[in-house]
Amino acid sequence: MAPERSSHFDTDVVVIGAGPAGAAAAAQLVRLGHGVRVLERSHFPRFSIGESLLPQCMSHLETAGLLETVQSAGYQFKNGAAFTRGATRTAIDFREKFTEGWGTTFQIERADFDQRLIHAAATYGAQVAFGVAVTDFRPDAERPRVSYTDEEGRTTTLTARFVLDASGYGRVLARKLDLSRDPRLEPRMALFTHVEDRIDAPDYDREKILIGVHPEDPTIWYWLIPFANGHASVGVVGAIDTLERYGDNAEDRWRRLIDAEPRYRRLLHNARPVRPIGELKGYSADVSCLHGPGYALLGNAGEFLDPVFSSGVTIALRSAGLAAPLVDRQLRGEPVDWQSDFETPLRQGIATFRAFVDAWYDGRLQAIVFSEKQPDGLKRMISSVLAGYAWDERNPFVAATDKRLTTLAQLCGYTLPPARQGST
Ligand SMILES: Cc1cc2nc3c(=O)[nH]c(=O)nc-3n(C[C@H](O)[C@H](O)[C@H](O)COP(=O)(O)OP(=O)(O)OC[C@H]3O[C@@H](n4cnc5c(N)ncnc54)[C@H](O)[C@@H]3O)c2cc1C
Repeated sequence: MAPERSSHFDTDVVVIGAGPAGAAAAAQLVRLGHGVRVLERSHFPRFSIGESLLPQCMSHLETAGLLETVQSAGYQFKNGAAFTRGATRTAIDFREKFTEGWGTTFQIERADFDQRLIHAAATYGAQVAFGVAVTDFRPDAERPRVSYTDEEGRTTTLTARFVLDASGYGRVLARKLDLSRDPRLEPRMALFTHVEDRIDAPDYDREKILIGVHPEDPTIWYWLIPFANGHASVGVVGAIDTLERYGDNAEDRWRRLIDAEPRYRRLLHNARPVRPIGELKGYSADVSCLHGPGYALLGNAGEFLDPVFSSGVTIALRSAGLAAPLVDRQLRGEPVDWQSDFETPLRQGIATFRAFVDAWYDGRLQAIVFSEKQPDGLKRMISSVLAGYAWDERNPFVAATDKRLTTLAQLCGYTLPPARQGST
């Protein structure tokens, strides 16, 4: 039964931003019978980075009622991740994993993916406005208010019973409410584009993201994410000052860095960029708290770690899937403990990913993925986390991530730096 509506509110729920987190939350809430208004600054379809999904996404899409629209889109099938460093090549097949559940997913162009998701949410009944930027917010346990400005410069204020901030890199509530805190990750930079890849190498597997490591600097890494239409997303990530040394502009840097990695250079020798080289810097972000009176923060609007391991969309969808039933309960008048039922469980999986990110950049995870010494059972546990199952506490690499990664890395030949010896 649909909950009783109050005429004192413009809508039950305002969602700021129509990316994956906003679309999933809107779809789920509207299907639970609530009135939902989504306010999106841009016009769709619009480019966004973040094109490699993890299998864990699939169950979150299913919960939101968005799986069919994704499955029918003809996207590039994905079953794992391949790694390349110098002459060493390895691969992880996500179907061989510790945790039960989806072992495959897709590589998607976000312009199309995001449009499909929000279109499906609108078909379920969400009211979506494009070209409107949220400019102000007043928290209130019963009656939060959101103000937005349209493209003619008119400002409108909406009252709602709850507000979900899914504004991603816009970080609307973090800025308005001064919630930002140090993300505890080195500021890095990404250079990326889409290419018509024209890859003809017979040993190249389009069903996996390819992650490469710079031959001289293992803190620089590459992604190659092929799409179904013969295009691919190609990017490179590293510390800002390191990448800036590769040229005076984004195009020079991207080209020189691709040429520096032999496998990428060979694979992409015929490639033709189909959009300008994009550049993003210092994208890691965090907030002191993911909820407050009458609001919660979803996806990148809360915490974002790093592109390596493609965890962003998974976390965004997870946050929506956790928040929507809590908003539903709250609007029905039931008590909700946002800390124990939302923030703590969401952060637990993000902490698992964070430990993997740290271990990638300090070399432990690279020692593991490029080693042939990984016992099969442990490889399945690593595969599970990389497939997005970072919340499965039965997996020892979720329960004690950092310690287990250190032990496994040492087994694979990694030597701890002197500062860390004795700390495990
Ligand atoms: C270099 C790089 C590579 C990445 N690669 C991957 C990957 O391969 N796989 C993966 O899963 N993730 C990846 N990510 C992360 C991914 O991009 C994000 O985690 C994901 O897009 C988060 O989704 P979201 O819904 O939280 O926010 P977003 O997708 O950013 O959506 C937020 C929406 O809010 C809107 N908005 C912003 N401000 C306002 C405002 N004031 N008013 C109204 N609307 C507003 C924006 O226009 C946008 O449409 C990558 C990130 C980076 C930086």
